[in-house]
Parts: sequence; structure tokens; C-alpha cells
Amino acid sequence: MTIKELIAFGMDELSNTQNPRLDSELIIGYVLQKERLYLILNLEESIEENKEKKIKEYLSLRKSGTPIHYILKEREFMGMDFLVEKSVLIPRPDTEILVEELIKELKDSNLNEKKDILGIEIGPGSGIISISLLKEFSNLKIIACDINPSAIELTRKNSIRHGVKDRLDVREGSLFHKIEGNIKADFIVSNPPYIKKDVIKTLQIEIREHEPLDALDGGEDGLDFYRAIVRDGSNFLNKGGIMAFEIGYDQGEAVKTVMNGSGYEDISVYKDLAGLDRVVIGRKI
Ligand code: GLN
Repeated sequence: MTIKELIAFGMDELSNTQNPRLDSELIIGYVLQKERLYLILNLEESIEENKEKKIKEYLSLRKSGTPIHYILKEREFMGMDFLVEKSVLIPRPDTEILVEELIKELKDSNLNEKKDILGIEIGPGSGIISISLLKEFSNLKIIACDINPSAIELTRKNSIRHGVKDRLDVREGSLFHKIEGNIKADFIVSNPPYIKKDVIKTLQIEIREHEPLDALDGGEDGLDFYRAIVRDGSNFLNKGGIMAFEIGYDQGEAVKTVMNGSGYEDISVYKDLAGLDRVVIGRKI
């Protein structure tokens, strides 16, 4: 088949999905290792049989609901391409708000002017938050803990890809279990699982059936991880240190309350581009 015929074939295959043309082109481009523009400029080029077979395999995965980024094994975040796998959540654009607000907060409080800054991330997944922060501050080191061994491996790979491996200490373990001694960080950041248990079954099918539910399930009221991170993490945070969370659209007040009762002040809720609560940042008293 030619590129043109394969695009038409893909659009037909994916007619039950949201972006049949875009996804077909992305899959063809991925297998051919070419940009989408190349495809459009070379519509009459014919594709080798083994590649055509691979393209059809991926189209059929997409047709049956596999998210496009698990097929392409990459997702852009903060202008960088990160490796993703089905063992971790696909990076969401909303999470950029958490990174941007935390960067602002570190600058506003002049913490970025310290000789060395130390951060802790709980649950890095593919490592997008830590790696984006490490790219921003060259005097920053982060310890990132994840209970999921494939997340640990992926975070490592992404840190190598983006040249920050030496400043990212990745540890396998739940919450702060792998952080010992008298470590005091300047900030703790997390995008923990925060979906209420019984809301999970109402999520879009693509999320519910393909993304790791462990990375979404925040317990009965969705707040389990905020309580645990505030409770266990406060020991590892300097006075004046920053606690920064991504939160669900209706959790601003609740997470603020968790922090308020546990020795935090200047707690602010930030909204995403849809005008919904998305980030909470507070400072340890
Ligand atoms: N924002 C994600 C979603 O809507 C949830 C992320 C999380 O639980 N940390 O699927």
C-alpha cells in the first residue's frame, strides 16, 4: 500500500475514535520513523510489507481503545518528549500547572537562590515533574520514590534521556519508606492518585481500561494520599519548605483543610485552563 492508501485505511479503521486522521498519521509516522509532514509530502510512496503489517497492528490496538500515547510510547510534557508505558499514567497537560506554579513559588520565596536545593517527589510515574524541575534549576537535586518498579525504571530512562540522571535519586518504595535519616527537603511535590474509589468506574473507558488504576485510586474520598503525604512528609520538610500537590477539580478546600490542620500556612489553590481547581501549594510553618 502507499502512504495515501494507508492513511485512508487508518481513517476508516479508526472511524469510531476521536482523531482518526491524526492518529493514523501518527502511527504511520511512528512505524516509518518520519514526521507527519513527510507523509503528506510523499503520499505516493509505497510501504514495505512488514511495516504495513506493523501499522495495521497498531491501528487495530488503537481501534480497540489503547490510548495513542501507549502505542507511540511517548508523550510531550513541558516541551519535552517523555517515554511512557502502560504501567504509568500518560502525562496530562494539567500537570504542567503544578510544575509551573511550583517553579514560581520556589523563585518567589528565593529558595532557588540557595546553593543546593533538595526536593522529594512521591509517585513520579514517568518522571515528568521531577525532570521538568531539574531542567529548570541546575542547583536542584530530587529524591523520587515510587512503589511501582516499572515507574522507577521509566523515570530513570527519562532522566537519562533529558540529561538529569545525576541529580535524580530514584528509589523504589511506598511513600517515604525509602527516605531515612534526617533528610530535610526544600519542597515535596506529588501528583498522587486522587480519584474517589467509586468514581473510577465512571471514567472514560480509555482511562478505565488501559491506564493503571493504582495511579488513580485515591480511596473512598480521594484524599488518602494527601493525608498520608502530609502526615509522613512533614518530618522531611524544612521549616518554610513547600508542599505542592496536583488535586482533583473538587478537592481544593478539602486538601487545604488537610494541610491547615497539620502545620502549613499560605495555602493557595490554583486553577487549570478550564477554571477548575488543579493545584494546592502551602508552606510548612
Ligand atoms: N487527572 C487524572 C485523570 O483525570 C487523575 C490523575 C491522578 O489521580 N493523579 O485521569
